Amino acid sequence: MHEKLSLQTEDLKRLIDHMDVAVWIINMENNKAFFSEGFMKIFGRTPEEFYQDVGLWEKTIHPEDIAVAHKRKSEKQKNQVTIDEYRIMIPNGEVRWVQDRGIPYRGKNGQNIYIGIILDITERKMADEKIKYLAYHDDLTGLPNRKFFNEHLNATIKSVKWNESLTLLFIDLDQFKIVNDSLGHNIGDQLLNEVAKRISSCVRNQDIVARHAGDEFIILIENVSKAETDIIAERILSTLVAPFSILENEIFISASIGISIYPLDGRDPETLIKNADAAMYDAKYYGKNNSKYYSLDIENANIRKMSIINGLHKALESQDFELYYQPKIITSSQSVYGVEALLRWNHPILGPISPAEFIPLAEETGMIIPIGEWVLNEACKNYKEWVSQGFAPQCLCINLSPRQLRDPQLLNKIKNIIEVHHFIPQHLEIEITESVAIDNFDDTISILNQIRKTGVKVALDDFGTGYSSLNYLRQFPIDALKIDRTFINEVMVNSQTAAIVKSIISIAHSLKIAVIAEGVETAEQFHFLYDLQCDFLQGYIISPPVPINKIEEILRKNTGPK
Ligand code: C2E
Ligand code: MG
Ligand code: MG
Repeated sequence: MHEKLSLQTEDLKRLIDHMDVAVWIINMENNKAFFSEGFMKIFGRTPEEFYQDVGLWEKTIHPEDIAVAHKRKSEKQKNQVTIDEYRIMIPNGEVRWVQDRGIPYRGKNGQNIYIGIILDITERKMADEKIKYLAYHDDLTGLPNRKFFNEHLNATIKSVKWNESLTLLFIDLDQFKIVNDSLGHNIGDQLLNEVAKRISSCVRNQDIVARHAGDEFIILIENVSKAETDIIAERILSTLVAPFSILENEIFISASIGISIYPLDGRDPETLIKNADAAMYDAKYYGKNNSKYYSLDIENANIRKMSIINGLHKALESQDFELYYQPKIITSSQSVYGVEALLRWNHPILGPISPAEFIPLAEETGMIIPIGEWVLNEACKNYKEWVSQGFAPQCLCINLSPRQLRDPQLLNKIKNIIEVHHFIPQHLEIEITESVAIDNFDDTISILNQIRKTGVKVALDDFGTGYSSLNYLRQFPIDALKIDRTFINEVMVNSQTAAIVKSIISIAHSLKIAVIAEGVETAEQFHFLYDLQCDFLQGYIISPPVPINKIEEILRKNTGPK
């Protein structure tokens, strides 16, 4: 058993001076004080310095935390236990975080005394801050993340005054998937990083730019007019179309921006973001690389979209679809070489709807798969009928959309239909758009090769509207390309377009690819293309797409090769 030792002040002092904490004692009545050796370890100053300069402690506190020190003083007067965390400045320029606990007690003569312990908590604070930073920032770009944005927007909405407004810009890159799939994730990531920098450079420091998800960014700007917003949106669009140079790749992208305004378009973060997102979709729908404000029109367009989507499900059953056919002629002889099947839909309530409107929605919802099968079947059935009547053209052209091309059953479906209808595969040509071809480049090449192995031909539709890379053209297994009608439209009025069309034809020919011009409307365009030896023509000047009885009439009169 130990005999109990009564502690002497000397023992305690030695103990205190050896601890990794700074201990202080202040007699509030006479201002006498004690500072332990720990002050040297934590504050980088000797206890002596503190004895000599009564105001030194306060002077070491970081200016941003000085309020804490003042609060302490008043609490001390109230005799309360205090626990504070604040930053101190060390003579070598370092800043440290400390935790400072003050405990009041009554001294021997009833004197008011404070005793306190100061710990260095810098490491814990740093770790806390790092965790907080990681939770609120995006790893890749270093921008605030969606969580930060939502919380910040929520807080901003709460503090906004009645005459103030908030503007949200929702930005989505138009061709990011293509870049990511074709050039790889590493380049995709670096591109996002550069995009983040460019977008941030378009706004002021106080505006919040956050990464919402994937290739989506979102900006919060307080109190800007519509005119200023337009300028900012324009600035972002134009900064993003300038080529990016990443690991020796020159990359071209664009963006679509949707804008919503508080309180006009929503009073809570969810609605504001949802509506900016809807406006962004609208901007994409109307050609990308532009910006749109949220409006009731968009709401209405969404309602129309919904009824189209709902209608699509019923249209097959109720046989509301019909195929029209547009002839494709051989330029030199002007005889009909083929026909392109073009889908028509008479909606029971909305009336006729353009495929340009409903095909993308069928695509989005997956309905394009059964619809596309119906088209293929129906067109082959019609073609067989023409064969039996002796006036079938050389070629039946069918459009396939991206989703169909990704359907793992596609090849089997084509083979099956060919078999069922005893179709000669060489008489079938499928048209795919350029953008499809570039999404999932390798997969596309493989499926196209398989399709072509069956004898079925492949044409690249709408050439010139998408990525139009000659490199892709070289690698694609295709038999023909169709120059988009927007080019044909301009050949007589724009000499540059005329030059492009000329080069496309000559490059295609040197790659042994046939060229079809679509949307030929005037005699001048016809002659221009005739002179360039464009192989095939399609367009209103020959015939618009027509119903089956009309195309049969045309085919019957056709004198060309069968
Ligand atoms: P596309 O394959 O490029 O078809 C050509 C479009 O141009 C057709 O529009 C046609 O009516 C129109 N056109 C033809 N000649 C002229 C002309 O001289 N001047 C003008 N201004 N336009 C002309 P349509 O029928 O509205 O089809 C639009 C698009 O919808 C098609 O573009 C095609 O991508 C898609 N599509 C149509 N039917 C189907 C289908 O059965 N399946 C799939 N997946 N897509 C289809
Ligand atoms: Mg087509
Ligand atoms: Mg086309």
